[in-house]
Amino acid sequence: MNCPYCNNEDTSVLESRGLPGEAGIRRRRECKKCGKRFTTHERVVNIDLKVIKKSGRVELYNREKLLKGIKKACYKRKVDNTDIENLVDEIETKLLNRKTVEIKSSDIGKMVLSRLLRLDDLAYMRFASVYLDFADAREFQDFVAGSKRLIINH
Ligand SMILES: [Zn+2]
Repeated sequence: MNCPYCNNEDTSVLESRGLPGEAGIRRRRECKKCGKRFTTHERVVNIDLKVIKKSGRVELYNREKLLKGIKKACYKRKVDNTDIENLVDEIETKLLNRKTVEIKSSDIGKMVLSRLLRLDDLAYMRFASVYLDFADAREFQDFVAGSKRLIINH
């Protein structure tokens, strides 16, 4: 996103707000060069990425689907919609900068989890139980035990 005043590429985001109905994101930005501020309305276009499911099936990456999964995990928790949108933005930026166009769904899951852990520990557990697709209760218990350590230490 270039500055409309001086065309400098380097701008910082001051504030992000989701538009109603998931129509996009409104951002307040400041140019790092000339210091002028401007607002952008960003509409998300699906990024062209193949997601390999645990079953081996390949699907196209779908932002809405990922958002829905995270929002479900955050249901009734004190997590801002903006935080969720930002989390997905951050992941998409990472995904877009990869050299390959394929990624395992479990890798995306781990990317979400490491960020969700900073936002809400219960949402993190919920997301993990869905996304990591544990083989049995024991595997989940081990995961929770490991996570508790992470939560205490972070
Ligand atoms: Zn500028």
